[in-house]
Amino acid sequence: MQGSTVGEFAELLGVPSNDVIKRLFMLGQVLTVTQTMTDELIELIADDMGRKVRVVSPEEEYAVVYNDTEDDLKPRPPVVTVMGHVDHGKTSTLDAIRHTGVAAGEAGGITQHIGASVVNIDGRQITFIDTPGHEAFTAMRARGAQVTDVIVLVVAADDGVMPQTIEAINHAKAANVPIVVAVNKIDKPGATPDRVRQELVEYGVIPEEWGGTNMFVDVSAKQRIGIDDLLETILLQADVLELKANPDALASGFVIEANLDKGRGPVATVLVQRGTLKPGDAVVAGTSYGRVRALVDPRGNHATEARPSDPVEILGLSSVPTAGDEFRVFEDERDARKLAEERALRERLKAQEAKTHMSLDDLFSRI
Ligand code: GDP
Ligand code: MG
Repeated sequence: MQGSTVGEFAELLGVPSNDVIKRLFMLGQVLTVTQTMTDELIELIADDMGRKVRVVSPEEEYAVVYNDTEDDLKPRPPVVTVMGHVDHGKTSTLDAIRHTGVAAGEAGGITQHIGASVVNIDGRQITFIDTPGHEAFTAMRARGAQVTDVIVLVVAADDGVMPQTIEAINHAKAANVPIVVAVNKIDKPGATPDRVRQELVEYGVIPEEWGGTNMFVDVSAKQRIGIDDLLETILLQADVLELKANPDALASGFVIEANLDKGRGPVATVLVQRGTLKPGDAVVAGTSYGRVRALVDPRGNHATEARPSDPVEILGLSSVPTAGDEFRVFEDERDARKLAEERALRERLKAQEAKTHMSLDDLFSRI
């Protein structure tokens, strides 16, 4: 937990505030219920009451301590996000990719919508995350989380650089994620793919063939031209990044999407970033927790495990987490529950605090 008031601390421990005030008094500290306790006092009083409390900053809480050695790290597939201006062909490009990436003979290749999909190209996996809401992305970035390894920037060859193109470029730069440009709609009569290249140079996105670092591919999502080339280019870009993770650890990652399903209860699509997630695992996702009842892969099949860079649906959570929430597996279900409850309490306190401030303002405005 983090530095808190006497009242918050008492609530966390589930004891009356007066008990805490009395013990503080015996230590020569005169504090009221709304005053803030120092970290030292929190640990001291908790110890005094036979409870172990460790004071951590939110950053520390979210930063899972990874003690992975070089030997632990194994290659993992790239995680890709398709971005670009509205109507430039993001959805069509993803559709074309899914169509291409499905091996012949695989049942129809129809993927259900879980916010992510997986394609296999010559035995290599690429994970695509459907452009998530900006909020989720921002939340993940605020926690220092890198969710996507490569951004595919779709730019229509008949329209060029537009506001959301620039937004995507800024996003990629802020997150330090390489951009592969898909110049789309090259089948259209008014298409000028080279003009798109020129326009992008102004924003620091420079084709390799012009001495820059960005890979460009001309495509037509509609006519399925250049899609294989685009997938190969993504894999080339991934090779440069030498993506690795430790698969032999308790799983952790992020919530991509979550909802309440009528039949199945809370369902969260998560992206595993480290470790291997299995049915039966005790998991916490944001303020939600539970034992994984089942894992469902993007094709709708039950999965026995999900490894680094795999997107998967989790069934069995206590409530619906929020996109952008961190998820983590614990050895002991009680630890998962405790962390979820601590987070929930913190959120409640924050909400309460906001309310208190408001009523104080009301009070002052009436005076
Ligand atoms: P999004 O808003 O970026 O997801 O764009 P969509 O994929 O929904 O595409 C917007 C429109 O452009 C749709 O009418 C598509 O059929 C059309 N479109 C997408 N890709 C192509 C293409 O390669 N060629 C042509 N001619 N039209 C395309
Ligand atoms: Mg779309």
